[in-house]
Formats: sequence, C-alpha cells, structure tokens
Amino acid sequence: MEFVLTILGSGGALPGIDTNPTAQCLRYGTHHYLIDASEGIQTRLTKNGIAHHKIERIFISHLHGDHYLGLMGLLFTMHLHRRKTELHLHAHRGLAEIITLHLKHAGSALCYPLIFHPLPEDLGTVIFENKHLLVEILPMQHRIPCVGFLFTEKQGPLKLIKDRLPKDISIEHIGMLKAGQDVLNADGTTKYAVEDLTHSPDPLRSYAFCSDTAFDPTLASKISNGSLLYHEATFADEDIEKAKETWHSTTSQAAQMAKLSGTKQLLIGHLSSRYKDPESLLREAQQIFPNTRLAEENKVYTVGD
Ligand SMILES: [Zn+2]
Ligand SMILES: [Zn+2]
Repeated sequence: MEFVLTILGSGGALPGIDTNPTAQCLRYGTHHYLIDASEGIQTRLTKNGIAHHKIERIFISHLHGDHYLGLMGLLFTMHLHRRKTELHLHAHRGLAEIITLHLKHAGSALCYPLIFHPLPEDLGTVIFENKHLLVEILPMQHRIPCVGFLFTEKQGPLKLIKDRLPKDISIEHIGMLKAGQDVLNADGTTKYAVEDLTHSPDPLRSYAFCSDTAFDPTLASKISNGSLLYHEATFADEDIEKAKETWHSTTSQAAQMAKLSGTKQLLIGHLSSRYKDPESLLREAQQIFPNTRLAEENKVYTVGD
C-alpha cells in the first residue's frame, strides 16, 4: 500500500513568499489525513492535486495560529461544495469553541457532519484506529498544550508465494492462508500449509510527526525504530538559548532525536524565517544524522523508503 507524505507547509510561524507555516497531508492508499492546517492551506492542497473531499480526518497539534489558521476556510469551502461525508477532527478542546464561535457569528451550520474528537489527557493513547493504521499522540514540550502524532501501520496479512499456489485453490482457502491458518482435509491432515505457501508480511512502517517542541530525550523511546520522523528545527545551533526560551528545538537536537530513536529518515522543518540559507541548517543536522532532508513544500516523501 502506498504510504506517502506531502508537505503543504514547512516554514516557521511567519508566512513568506514561497514558504508557509506547518501543514501536511499523509496518504495511506486512498485514505487522506491532514496534519495541521496553516493559513493558505486550500491553495496548497489544490497545487498538490489533493481534493478536499478526499480528506477523512484532520489532526491539529496545538492552537498556535501557525498550525491551524487555515482550518476555518477549509471547513467553509467543504460546506460550499456541499460535502456530505463525515469529517473527523482531532484537536485540543478549545478548537471546538473557536469553530462554534465562527459559525455562530456567520449564522451558519455546516451541511456535513463535523465530528470533533478532543485530544485525551493521557499521552501515548491511541486516538484513531482502522484496518491499516493506528494513530497515537506523542507528548511535546511547548509553551501551550501540544502533541505530536505517531502513525503506525498495522501488521499486514501474510504474502502468498504465487508460483507455489495450486491452480484450483479457492478464495476462501487463500484467505485462510493469508490469515496464518493451515487448510485441513476432512481427515485432519494438512491440505495447504501456511509455511509452504506464504512469506512473512512486509515490515511495519511508521511516521512520527513531532510538532513544536523543546528537545526531550524521553520522546525517543516512544518513536523508536520509525521509518520517517518529522521533527521541528526552528533554530540553528548557535541560537540554542532562543530555542530554550521559546520551547523549540535546534537542528542538532532534531538530529539527536532521530539518532536516539533509531529512526531511518529525518525531515526537518519549521525553520525560522531569520535564516536565509536553509541548506546551512540542513548541514548542521546531517553532521549528527546523515539521512536528514529538509521538509520541502510541495514535495512528496515516501514513508519507509
Ligand atoms: Zn509553530
Ligand atoms: Zn507553537
């Protein structure tokens, strides 16, 4: 199944000519999930060919404006396009209040079901689960309540060794083998053995989104051995004191997190607009964790590649 991340915004808090604050779209097969929704998100969805009616769930990390100010516009556009399907929104409780206030003063009610899931107090809790994925929240250390999101693929079915399969095998028996069950004859002997006809499933892939946060080494064990980690790197190393004061991280701290957690690939973003050369920030991170890339807007990254 395709598991890909499109970066819709990866700048710091201030929008620039070519940079926008945090917003991402994670797609697993045909399932689309938005992570944060900064201002201007609608045009960036269009630019990346992502139709808003495909979005099933939106996850908002915290209520600083650079992470959600595009949301109301998107919700209204979905209304104007007469969306009918449910939209699920996972966010801190205060966002429900903000949305209600907007609707009240607009004298509007959305024409589609907006289902609000307040984030629980318990971190590490599974907040969503379907056939393919589990989503847990991760503790971030920020000035206001803030969470990250960990998307982990569930163990898939066993893979069939196609050239060993008997030609006349039934769909039902194929289903049993994929689920790890031997198929037996009426006398109890084995007709088709799982170990002869299947391989183990593909290794599990995961994506950890670590939004605004001060460096916290205890986070590493919660995202261990992940496929792809996005970690904010608002400041260069020389500005480590500013990072502390504002509850953000530096490039080296983001890289340190990737190293400590044993993740395979790191994306850094939320770079402050004070730095005119993002490549120099990338080099700082790569000195500690070579497989680091800049999270570039309008680019697609494969989870687990
Ligand atoms: Zn931010
Ligand atoms: Zn913030």
